[in-house]
Amino acid sequence: MALVEVKNISFQYPNGYLAVDDVSFSIDAGENIAIVGQNGAGKTTTLKMISGLARPTDGEIIMFGYRGGGLKNIRSRVSCLIEAPGVYGNLSAYDNLKIKCKLFGIQEKSYIPEILEMVGLNHVGKKKVKHYSLGMKQRLGIGLTLVGDPDLLLLDEPINGLDPQGIVEVRDTILRLNEERNMTILVSSHILEELSKIATHYGIIHNGSLLQEMTKEELMKRCSE
Ligand code: ATP
Repeated sequence: MALVEVKNISFQYPNGYLAVDDVSFSIDAGENIAIVGQNGAGKTTTLKMISGLARPTDGEIIMFGYRGGGLKNIRSRVSCLIEAPGVYGNLSAYDNLKIKCKLFGIQEKSYIPEILEMVGLNHVGKKKVKHYSLGMKQRLGIGLTLVGDPDLLLLDEPINGLDPQGIVEVRDTILRLNEERNMTILVSSHILEELSKIATHYGIIHNGSLLQEMTKEELMKRCSE
């Protein structure tokens, strides 16, 4: 059974603009899906619908076997980072994670160090987040999405605006989460190259429509041709 089934979803903003138009795809457990499309293609709106921040104006989403109002039962299994991470600049990465752990009632001592290790921030100590590079902040944002052990991660443009080093670090983090933790991930970008090699499947979205779906191997073959 697919973890997520997106069936013919559309989203029309109140001003009448159809941002997502009849999009369907499914995500199996352990897959790392990349949605690629130009600015304004409808990526964020699609991720918002999957995360529950927006309700499709047409079509339906089935997740972990739940649909409609039943989706609230599994919201805690889905975690998202949409646009910039919400972090407290005057606190360290550890303390930012500690606040989220408190909200989730998590007390294990090893929990935060394990997340810091996973996102490569285990050596930053007490340094305040406001002094982090953009890539470090983004990795902390990904770390915060891991609190509560979600089964599905939604990352919207996590590589946007990063320098080459930051891009490599965030890509490595996404790969590790998928390969080592077997996390199912849906990640978006407007630059295909940024996500090349990290996803198992690719979807190309344009003007609100899903134009093509490809496996990593198909994408590599087509790029080489
Ligand atoms: P970007 O990378 O620029 O965020 P995107 O692919 O994520 O692009 P969306 O943010 O999903 O695209 O936006 C899709 C379309 O919907 C765009 O044309 C955008 O202008 C429009 N849109 C977004 N939010 C609203 C809104 N609140 N009201 C009306 N139109 C909107």
